[in-house]
Parts: sequence; C-alpha cells; structure tokens
Amino acid sequence: MLAAMLYGPYQLHLEQVPKPELGEGEALIRITACGICPSDVRLYTGQARLPAGKVPFLAGHEWAGEVVDVRISGPIPSAIRPGSRVAACWLSSCGECEFCRRGYPNYCVRDNRARVTGGFAEYGKAPVTSLWEIPTSLPYEEAVFAEPLACCVNGQERSSITPRDDVLVIGAGPVGLLHAQLARAQGARVIVCDLAAERLEIARGLGIEETVHIGDTGSAGYRVAAQQLREMTEGKGPDKVIVAANSVGVIDWALDVVAPCGVINVFAGLYPESRLDVDFNVVHYKQVTITGSHDFNHRHFDAAVNLLVRGQVKVRKLISHVVSLSKLEEGFVAVAERRGMKVVVSMNGGESAHPA
Ligand SMILES: [Zn+2]
Ligand SMILES: [Zn+2]
Repeated sequence: MLAAMLYGPYQLHLEQVPKPELGEGEALIRITACGICPSDVRLYTGQARLPAGKVPFLAGHEWAGEVVDVRISGPIPSAIRPGSRVAACWLSSCGECEFCRRGYPNYCVRDNRARVTGGFAEYGKAPVTSLWEIPTSLPYEEAVFAEPLACCVNGQERSSITPRDDVLVIGAGPVGLLHAQLARAQGARVIVCDLAAERLEIARGLGIEETVHIGDTGSAGYRVAAQQLREMTEGKGPDKVIVAANSVGVIDWALDVVAPCGVINVFAGLYPESRLDVDFNVVHYKQVTITGSHDFNHRHFDAAVNLLVRGQVKVRKLISHVVSLSKLEEGFVAVAERRGMKVVVSMNGGESAHPA
C-alpha cells in the first residue's frame, strides 16, 4: 500500500509498504480521509521530535474509512464488519493502569497509541473497540473531525461550561470554531475573537453572531477588545475563556478579561515553549481557575461522533483544502503557514465536491 513515511524534518516520502497485519480483535480499514493536525505538521517541520524507535514514522491520527477485514475468533460480538463506515479513535488504552482506572486513559502509562496505525496511508488497522460506525449522511471528510472535536468535548468538560455562561473562545481557527459550536450546543452564550477578520466571517457563517475583532497585535488592540468584551457582558467579562490560539500573551490577556469566579482553559499547546509572569493576586482575588486539557477518552469521542452525526457541530465550512495523499506535503505547508482553515487528505478525491 502507499504510505507517507516521515524520516526526519521535511523528509516525507510516499512509498510502498506492507499492509498492516491483523491481530485478534482488529480490523483492516481502507482509509478514505485523514485530517491534518498541527501536531502532524510539527513532526514534519521538526518542531516536535519523531517518537524514538519509530522512524520512519507514519503520522495521521484523524482518520476514517471503510472496513475491509475483521479478525475476531472468540465470542466477542461486534457490529463492525466489512463494509462498515467508521471513524477511528487512536486511543487504545490498557484499561489497567492507575490513570486508566481513574478515567484518564489519555494518560495511560502503557503505549496507548500502539494499536491504531497512522492515517496518511491507503490502509490502517485498529481494534474494533476503537472504531465508531458512521452513517452515510456524514461524509468521511467531515467524520475526521471526530478526533479534534473529542479533544474539545474534554476541554469544555474541564471548563465546567453551563447554559448560564458567557463563553469567550480566543482564536477562530478550526479548533476554536469547534469549541464555539460546542459551547453553543450546551446552551451557553458564545463570543469568538481573533486577529483575522476573515476567520470571524466564517464564525458568523456558522451562526456564531457575536465576534470581536482584535484590530492589532499591540497592547492597544487588546485593550480595545477587552473593553468591548466588558460592554458585551455587563462589565464582568466572560465567565469561561477557551484559549485556542498559540500565544502565551493571550493567556495573560484572558486573566485580565475573565469574570470573577471564571475559568480559563489553556487548550492550545504553545510552540516554542513559553513562560508567563502571572500576577497570582488576580487568580486569588478574582477566584479564577486556570485549567488545561489534552486529548480525550472514549466517552468524549462518542459524544463527538454523535454531535457530528446530528449536525449540532457543523464542520463543512471549516474545511478550506482537500488534498490527495500525493499532495500531503502541500497540505502540511498550508497548515504551517496558516493558509485557510482545516486541511483534509482525501484518498479518493473527496466524497463531495470541494476545492482542492
Ligand atoms: Zn489532532
Ligand atoms: Zn492504562
């Protein structure tokens, strides 16, 4: 099968490799679509290191496809069979370690990614317990959002979002707009801010009417935006702030604008690694909670699939590019240069017409 193997920074080779061999309880899937995650791009550019002992590395963890083979010899019943349309969930935790037992399989101390192969290839394999069946009403290129959306479901849960909240999402990229729709689906009021006016336009196209354009990156731009947010929230500021932007400065700004008793979720990883001088009297006197979230568990993934199937979170307008596997490198560059929004690799040119 064809697979995009990564040997090191900017060394991506499309080559023939053997199809994955199935173990007990596993399925072989003909991959039809795989989303490009910024974390894949960091592996490509060398900002993040390839996992030791796994070079060349096959990346891609947001994938969907059609089951072609299943190996189950025991009495385990499974709805997954050849022909099933599925979204793959890379998380396959041990279920036994302390973190798994406490409900945090995303922190499983054993290798929780080992059993699901990378998605930038023609075929992949996964345990049937890591596959979610999807209806034909959900195109594969949209189903790949299940993984990033599951991360957002986890993030919102850790931010304790309720219908009573004014939620501010900082950053109107693909992930920010997943968060915005998710908070709205939970009944909260949502405001989105960004430096890019065209991204806020996309937010409004998704029905997120309240947007704040940060006019310039200098402190004046943020001061004006903070004032606007206070006016929109009866002077108190947003109750919950989701930071979906790669900037340590906006975390500081979030501490300034968040309402008393509010929560700030540091959702985006910061590259390069960044530090912040925090006035902890603000944390103390405003009774602010600063939390983070990373990855998800199967319950979050299940919620994400259902939100997509029911159309409570819409992702079609978040896809700016659909590329073929042979154009993967161009897709990586588009994400690295922040051109457009989400880039999805489609193995068969896409189920539905979309600009390449
Ligand atoms: Zn991802
Ligand atoms: Zn575990």
